[in-house]
Amino acid sequence: MSKYIGPKCKLCRREGDKLMLKGERCSTAKCAIVKRNYPPGLHGPKGRARQSGYNMQIREKQKAKRIYNLMEKQFNLSFERAIKQKGEVGENLMKILETRLDNVIYRLGFASSRAQARVLTNHGHFRVNDIKVNIPSFNVKTGDIIKIRQSSRKSKSFANLSEKLKKVEIPGWLNLDIKDLSAKVLHQPAKENFESKINSQMIVEFYSK
Ligand code: SF4
Repeated sequence: MSKYIGPKCKLCRREGDKLMLKGERCSTAKCAIVKRNYPPGLHGPKGRARQSGYNMQIREKQKAKRIYNLMEKQFNLSFERAIKQKGEVGENLMKILETRLDNVIYRLGFASSRAQARVLTNHGHFRVNDIKVNIPSFNVKTGDIIKIRQSSRKSKSFANLSEKLKKVEIPGWLNLDIKDLSAKVLHQPAKENFESKINSQMIVEFYSK
């Protein structure tokens, strides 16, 4: 599966927002949005051009795609699934994105970014209901138990994890057991649990064109 391998900070500068793509660095003064909050390019800070409605919609879609670390095709597939489900399409889309296993791993603090969460998932470090799952797009359901595999717990990727987890703000739809390094999905994410940087309605309007 293809993935974006260019500079991540450029993506944030393009969107004019911290998309938190680089883990711990994003919360430091080294963040490129703190240092150079203007669009990338050769000509330095020129401010941001005023955007038309369509441009705003396309930027919203791009931002969501980048936050959840998806390529165009994967994002389009998620949107198609959202249309087929009952209920409001924007809400369905956000639920699909939030319940992705790689996002859940990130939300739980088992990884410092969604990109790292995807790599760890691909490497088979997690179990869902005691079954190894190495598919980042796997959607968790209510009642699912997500665990770090016993044999993976000594890996460098999870060093000092219990200490780090004490500082993580876990969303209300997930319940983390720090001692057991496992978590339970209490219910599906609701509007208040969605990524606040994304306006899903604008994404729906973009696809309605
Ligand atoms: Fe974005 Fe993080 Fe880079 Fe800041 S450090 S620009 S939040 S990826």
